[in-house]
Amino acid sequence: MKKKEDFYEESWTGPCADCNGTGIVECDVCEGEGEYNSEVCTACNGDGGKKCPDCGGSGKATYHMGQKI
Ligand SMILES: [Zn+2]
Ligand SMILES: [Zn+2]
Repeated sequence: MKKKEDFYEESWTGPCADCNGTGIVECDVCEGEGEYNSEVCTACNGDGGKKCPDCGGSGKATYHMGQKI
C-alpha cells in the first residue's frame, strides 16, 4: 500500500497556475489595455492578452513534485 506522500512524487497535469487555466495572460506591456503610448500595442497586437508562456496557451501544465515541467 502506497503512502500518501507518494502521490506528490508523481507527475500530473492540471490547470496552469499562471493563467488559471485560461491559456491567456494579461499583456505585461500594455497591462491588458491593448494600447501603449496611444498606439496599438505591438506586443499583443491590441488584444490586451497573450498566450501564456508557461503552458503555451493550452491552459494546462504538467507538474512533477510540485514543479512545472
Ligand atoms: Zn499589449
Ligand atoms: Zn498558462
